Amino acid sequence: MHKTICLLPGDGIGPEILTQGACVLAATAQKFGHIFDFEEALIGGAAVDATGEPLPAETVEKCRKADAVYLSAVGGPKWDAVPPEKRPEKGLLGIRKALGLFANLRPALLLPELAGACLLRPDVAARGLDLIVVRELTGDIYFGEPRGLETRDGLRTGFNTMIYTEEEIRRIAVVAFETARKRRKKVCSVEKSNVLETSRLWKEVVLETHREYADVELSHLYVDNAAMQLVRDPSQFDVILTGNIFGDILSDEASVITGSLGMLPSASLGASGPGLFEPVHGSAPDIAGQDKANPLATILSGAMLLRLGFGLSAEADCIEAAVRRTLADGYRTGDIMEAGKTLVGCEEMGRKVLERL
Ligand code: NAD
Repeated sequence: MHKTICLLPGDGIGPEILTQGACVLAATAQKFGHIFDFEEALIGGAAVDATGEPLPAETVEKCRKADAVYLSAVGGPKWDAVPPEKRPEKGLLGIRKALGLFANLRPALLLPELAGACLLRPDVAARGLDLIVVRELTGDIYFGEPRGLETRDGLRTGFNTMIYTEEEIRRIAVVAFETARKRRKKVCSVEKSNVLETSRLWKEVVLETHREYADVELSHLYVDNAAMQLVRDPSQFDVILTGNIFGDILSDEASVITGSLGMLPSASLGASGPGLFEPVHGSAPDIAGQDKANPLATILSGAMLLRLGFGLSAEADCIEAAVRRTLADGYRTGDIMEAGKTLVGCEEMGRKVLERL
């Protein structure tokens, strides 16, 4: 297979971790006889510094032409004072929009090797945590119009619009049901249909879409209950299907209870064109440039790129197995360090994974 991957190193620890991720992808290509061409483009604060824009047109062009986009993270205190439209995060929202990436897939998996880091009571953690949040990414209150700040009756007033069309709901529901078919065949749709009209439509369309997926078990939860169930017993979940704002919050909750932010990958997919693969964490400016960052979330995002972007499951399995062997052999970066384990830096962690690949 011959593919082009556009690398977006971004800011902070971004360049360090993406170097390790790209090395692992290159080694996997070599092992399995594929050719991956890597191109690099600017995004976030690095792009602001070089061009004045967080998402230069050239970056969008390179991403559109690529078969997959591999991003690390953007942002940092250096750009806190820039005007809102020039903030590094605008680059991230912009590229998602430009590529039509409406589905965000975030697995939360508690690896037995890292059970000690889990924030849950041992008896709850022992039941296991292996779920994936399928979050709608381009609609909802984050993009709905009208929105704004104005003075009403002498009071400063802020307002946003929560809005979904049936088509937007249907296409994300399809992604969730298809994802569940490759897993344990359970979807839990999360909304707030006891209060919100948007959520009533959400539930209705999810039920309609489910008619084509009778082999998948469907349940429904209000978002407040879902947030509670996630810490009470996350083992009940396989695929959580939800909208943009609820998914933003629940996917962070689901991932943080594993205790290892530096371990969590994600994928964003559109109807066609390249997907975008990136770690869940940010640019960690506090440890940037010190060879302390954990590259495993980025490396595991590379595995998602191969599986979901290129349909290369055996290659993705191979990377995930190499990561688990590295952990089983006791290597840890600072963020997941435990007594009795061997502390390594970002580069060495990447090397250990490569050796096991
Ligand atoms: P963060 O995820 O960057 O860092 C939170 C904490 O986790 C820090 O202590 C950091 O050192 C640690 N951490 C994160 N990733 C790590 C890794 N791979 N290895 C070891 N430790 C790691 O979140 P934050 O501090 O809230 O945000 C920092 C910057 O990142 C901000 O500018 C924010 O806007 C941006 N951000 C970007 C993204 C993205 O690009 N997708 C996501 C979240 C935050």
